[in-house]
Amino acid sequence: MTKRVAIIGAGPSGLAQLRAFQSAFEKGADPVELVCFEKQSDWGGQWNYTWRTGLDANGEPVHSSMYRYLWSNGPKECLEFADYSFEEHFGKPIASYPPRAVLWDYIKGRVEKSGVREYIRFNCPVRHVEYRENDGTFLVTVHDHERDVVESEIFDHVVVASGHFSTPNVPEFEGFEAFNGRILHAHDFRDALEFQGKNLLLVGSSYSAEDIGSQCYKYGARSITTSYRTRPMGFDWPENWEEKPLLQRVDGNTAYFADGTSKQVDAIILCTGYLHHFPFLPDTLRLQTNNRLWPLGLYRGVVWEDNPGLFYLGMQDQWYTFNMFDAQAWYVRDIILERIALPDRETMQADSQAWREREEALEDDEQMIRFQGDYVASLIDATDYPSFDIEGVNRTFLEWEQHKHTDIMTFRDKSYSSLMTGTQAPAHHTRWLDAMDDSLEAFLDAPARRPAAKPEEAGS
Ligand code: FAD
Ligand code: NAP
Repeated sequence: MTKRVAIIGAGPSGLAQLRAFQSAFEKGADPVELVCFEKQSDWGGQWNYTWRTGLDANGEPVHSSMYRYLWSNGPKECLEFADYSFEEHFGKPIASYPPRAVLWDYIKGRVEKSGVREYIRFNCPVRHVEYRENDGTFLVTVHDHERDVVESEIFDHVVVASGHFSTPNVPEFEGFEAFNGRILHAHDFRDALEFQGKNLLLVGSSYSAEDIGSQCYKYGARSITTSYRTRPMGFDWPENWEEKPLLQRVDGNTAYFADGTSKQVDAIILCTGYLHHFPFLPDTLRLQTNNRLWPLGLYRGVVWEDNPGLFYLGMQDQWYTFNMFDAQAWYVRDIILERIALPDRETMQADSQAWREREEALEDDEQMIRFQGDYVASLIDATDYPSFDIEGVNRTFLEWEQHKHTDIMTFRDKSYSSLMTGTQAPAHHTRWLDAMDDSLEAFLDAPARRPAAKPEEAGS
């Protein structure tokens, strides 16, 4: 009988799963019935930008945490699909740090080419997944907002690809209830122009704090203060940006920090990360973890050890992204197609424990990057996903880090070679700090040239 597979989410991970199956079907694999349930009205996950915050048009929590003017925070060469290059998609080499709209277009291009949209049911949040002991299947309950019905279907496998950067982790600090300005979490940040001329405090010292602070600097905030819990980011910040130890309390508009200093601020953005949140899963199937490179309970990072009919994609903290999701999706596909046999539960747990011990011994970013690179390579070795130069990707990540430490405001002006095609990316036509228009058109097209100066104007 044809197997039925439910995929929850049509972001980069869920789309990778659809693409993985499509690629096998093209090569003659037996059919599998795929149904991908997507809560939003379009595909792309985080990359599907919305102006909305809070609830969406269907009353569901807004998924995307992305904002206007968001540019890739790493080189595109590190996330390139091995079976669909940027050059194939855009028909020409493009610069290394594209804005969101360009990456969204790229993600869509591959799945449009492979024709998998028909498998997706949009506006369909999954409400509940139940494992049925009697026949080893899963009952998946979904709210179809287009027809406004809640209905259940039976599947042999479930792939959870619902992302983990959507449900904000929101700590409270003393005095917040009487703060005389806006307090928001990074999830609800949309437009840096809102903070033009303002003194801004960002709590947190990871990517969101770095990038939202940089956006606000670029679009004219008066000053940026970032407050760290564990360690400062330590970049060479512009003059009006300073790092402080953890916020202790606010009083009116004054923020007090752990070193005894204080500062007047107009607005506070909590860049304090996200929770792995699966309200549709019972405890027996639910991954419980913080944001880390090796969550426990997932054999090879994807198989739910307590019930190997269930899989998770993209649940790790991420250096590698799109091509890691591909490696995972190809691996899950081959388990479902019975090309890869799983060992018993004890062996799976021992394998995961060994990865976890390696993860716990990691001391710096370079080791973390190489760890995740090894993980991706180990999955690719097991399937027919096109192999690529993982060490080259690791090296590109390391160069990127170096560029950030040289100058945090110019690292996006650098360019790298594709690890898939070997093509060197051109320099972008405009410095990132001067590139105010983040549209696909502005990025791809050289800016209109001024007419050549007449000889007398040119002073000749
Ligand atoms: P998501 O993209 O989160 O997609 C999950 C999908 O599941 C969504 O479409 C959602 O609507 C759907 N879903 C959720 N719950 C349900 C449900 N119950 N029922 C049905 N559907 C559901 N990565 C990079 O490589 N480069 C970057 O520059 C970069 N920038 C980022 C910036 C921000 C602000 C954030 C938050 C993340 C960024 N990332 C970046 C990481 C990003 O998470 C990954 O690139 C990628 O989007 C993860 O893909 P995913 O499919 O696993 O999850
Ligand atoms: P994150 O990497 O998980 O970092 C969370 C931060 O919040 C850490 O600095 C953590 O401090 C801090 N924190 C957590 N709880 C706290 C508390 N109670 N008090 C004070 N500080 C607290 O989350 P993120 O920075 O939001 O990044 C999430 C993802 O979004 C990443 O994958 C990143 O790449 C992506 N992103 C990308 C872009 C871009 O591409 N342009 C922009 C933004 C985000 P500790 O170190 O002490 O734990």
